[in-house]
Amino acid sequence: MTAHHPGTPGQITRRLLAWYDRHQRAFPFRGTREPYRVWLSEIMLQQTRTETVGPYYECFLALFPDVHALARASEQEVLKAWEGLGYYNRARNLHKAARLVAGELQGIFPTTSAKLRQLPGVGPYAAAAIASIAYDEPVPAMDGNLNRVISRLFLVEEDIGTPSVRRQLYDLGLSLMPARRAGDMNQALMDLGATICLPGTPDCARCPLQADCKSFQEGDPASLPVMQAKRPPRQVDVAVCLLFCDGKVLLVRRQEALLRGLYVFLLHEGDAGPAAALMRVRRFAPRNIFVEEVGAARHVFTHRVWNMRIYVARATACLPVKDGVWADLETLASLPLPVAMRAAKQAARQVLMEEAGGLRIDKAAE
Ligand code: SF4
Repeated sequence: MTAHHPGTPGQITRRLLAWYDRHQRAFPFRGTREPYRVWLSEIMLQQTRTETVGPYYECFLALFPDVHALARASEQEVLKAWEGLGYYNRARNLHKAARLVAGELQGIFPTTSAKLRQLPGVGPYAAAAIASIAYDEPVPAMDGNLNRVISRLFLVEEDIGTPSVRRQLYDLGLSLMPARRAGDMNQALMDLGATICLPGTPDCARCPLQADCKSFQEGDPASLPVMQAKRPPRQVDVAVCLLFCDGKVLLVRRQEALLRGLYVFLLHEGDAGPAAALMRVRRFAPRNIFVEEVGAARHVFTHRVWNMRIYVARATACLPVKDGVWADLETLASLPLPVAMRAAKQAARQVLMEEAGGLRIDKAAE
């Protein structure tokens, strides 16, 4: 048997671009080099699945068709349009960056990855993705897909969590960037990683780079990349209290870093028991109050899991609340609530609808 020589970076690039021309995935955010659109999609794609982003991207563009429209919107409108995508700091930074571009930069986006990184919320990955797609700058957009594909192609067997290995992968990525079509090359690597060179089980039989791939030829692609196990997320018990009064439910605007600016029901973090729930609602409804448990829910954040028990309580007077609103059905639907509140919101809607139905029956009986 003759010794195998893995492909040179130039060969890999040519072969992968040819494959991309025939097999690229179609998404609503592809096929444009307009910086506003590329920026928006790359920010959305950072922590959200590609398939999920499509419809959000289109709705968002319908509401805010250009950077000036986004800059003019209120933070609440932006958070509402982002509702369900999670990682809301992205939306807040997007809004800040839009105001910066529309104002100080007179509507013109920075044209290099180094300058793009100065925008709020644009890290190394997004800056490289935007610069390569919108301006053809030959920089690799190193995300999980690229790190995995490149560590396999070049048989990098060290822990990819360490800065020196990251740098090595970046340099290898850089060596794959063509002088033209850098954006396509980044997207080709992403598509290969998302459809063929999958985590855990690469489908090497279908891979256009099989002949070039060092780990396929000499190693065990499925075992790459080497990553140290992450610490498991912290489990937090949370009592979620739906406090009703006069056909309305109490929502408060989060001040804490996690989910800041979004509306939630009264929460007690650290204890999900009925005593904790009671303590939480007492401040707003001191007399004759009791809580009733109506359900449970679980939400997984990156570093934290909320194990929630949901309670219903009733107050006799809607005391004014700082940073909060007594919301009827319509207000409940219009305010931005995080996905973590989905089950509780459903329970609140149910109660409000029953009460509205009850009121109508009472009126009819009069
Ligand atoms: Fe990934 Fe296998 Fe292709 Fe190598 S041959 S790039 S491991 S799918």
